[in-house]
Amino acid sequence: MDDTIAAISTPPGEGGVGIIRISGKDAFQVARKVFRPAARRKDWLEDSHRLHYGHVVDGRTGRVIDEVLLTVMKAPRTYTRENIVEINCHGGMVPLREALRAVLAAGARLAEPGEFTKRAFLNGRIDLTQAESVIDVIRSKTEASLRVALSQLEGRLSVRIGAVQDKILGLLAGLEAAIDFPEDDVEEKTRAQLTETAREIIRELEKLIETAATGKIYREGIRTVIAGRPNVGKSSLLNALLGQERAIVTHIPGTTRDVIEETLNVRGIPLVLVDTAGLRETQDLVERIGVEKAKELLAGADLVLYVVEAAVGVTREDREILEALDRKKTILIVNKIDLKERAEIHGTADLPRVEVSALSGEGLEVLEEKIVDLVAGGRAGSPESVVVSRARHEDAISRARDHMADFLVAAGAGVPADILSIDARNSWEALGEITGSTVTEDLLDRIFRDFCIGK
Ligand code: GDP
Repeated sequence: MDDTIAAISTPPGEGGVGIIRISGKDAFQVARKVFRPAARRKDWLEDSHRLHYGHVVDGRTGRVIDEVLLTVMKAPRTYTRENIVEINCHGGMVPLREALRAVLAAGARLAEPGEFTKRAFLNGRIDLTQAESVIDVIRSKTEASLRVALSQLEGRLSVRIGAVQDKILGLLAGLEAAIDFPEDDVEEKTRAQLTETAREIIRELEKLIETAATGKIYREGIRTVIAGRPNVGKSSLLNALLGQERAIVTHIPGTTRDVIEETLNVRGIPLVLVDTAGLRETQDLVERIGVEKAKELLAGADLVLYVVEAAVGVTREDREILEALDRKKTILIVNKIDLKERAEIHGTADLPRVEVSALSGEGLEVLEEKIVDLVAGGRAGSPESVVVSRARHEDAISRARDHMADFLVAAGAGVPADILSIDARNSWEALGEITGSTVTEDLLDRIFRDFCIGK
């Protein structure tokens, strides 16, 4: 962390401004080489947390690269706790690239993905859950998802984990005396107290795990497929739902073909619409890939909105697919109820069913309610109730709980104190992985690899 890093922190493409961020102990020296303030003051670098107007120049030739605003931020009140300089250039690839080139030539090196945030963690400004939540804030899919991410950024999970860790330390202290005087071992009364504390710890950890299902929903969204035979109104339904709610379209590059994901916001719950091999475009999924393959694709979704036409009902082909789907994640949508023609619908009585008209909008509210019911299964709490939202956290908490369960069994069996303390310590360490107090370099790399360069 001795070197000074720099990167373009705004996304590629054209924008009003583009920002180059520089962090490290030489950030100010780098800035001095590449920045010419318009006000000819010598002491501009002393003026922390302020904007300075001027030009970025090539440090060697003095050639002007861009007209900029530059922010000087003196450590430790900065994102990384190091000296930071941010240069607001014009938001185009050439001025940004040239300015970055000048900054690198002046002594900074290109930052790795997530390296600014990693430094914020390593310098103790934020813990690991907060670092992770930065990405969740950036990628939040709905306003409710944002609330979940922000509460983690503020450290809600860390506070709860810290409290449990303190209790475990209490256990370890209780065992300490017995370890020092092995011939006495743990007294009956103390042993009873320790078991009670261990039970409390397990209860608290289980409470945290319970919020993970809801947390996952808000953070990752529900992978949803709108399926059905051609012309039943899948696209119309999608558009009707999109019209009702704000949609976010995200582009996920880096896959074999770039995937376009649309997120539909249904009462705060993000439905990530999966374009299952062009399911919505080709419309003849079954004809093209066969019933078996279609079933397989649909089985991979968290939610299937299966559309049929009111006048036609459920055909044999529909039924064959529907029978293979999980009842708990399928909604049968009978569309085009504005046309008065109706067919009987057989053999799907156990599926949640909603009648709608994508054309008139009738029934869409009920559909949304059904979606929320089904997805949440009555267990999804509000965004405010969520404490755990990442599989990594849930996994560490589960392991901590398992170690405590081992502790309980061992304590009941009269196992000596020094062995008991191993279980307690393992539990404490598993929780430490969450906040980063007992984290390995390897895990850190894995976490920050997810970030983009400049963050
Ligand atoms: P898809 O092939 O399943 O995506 O179906 P489309 O959304 O392209 O719709 C097929 C046709 O049905 C279009 O002409 C739509 O205008 C029409 N349509 C869709 N929904 C409704 C509806 O609720 N009522 C009526 N009357 N027509 C609809």
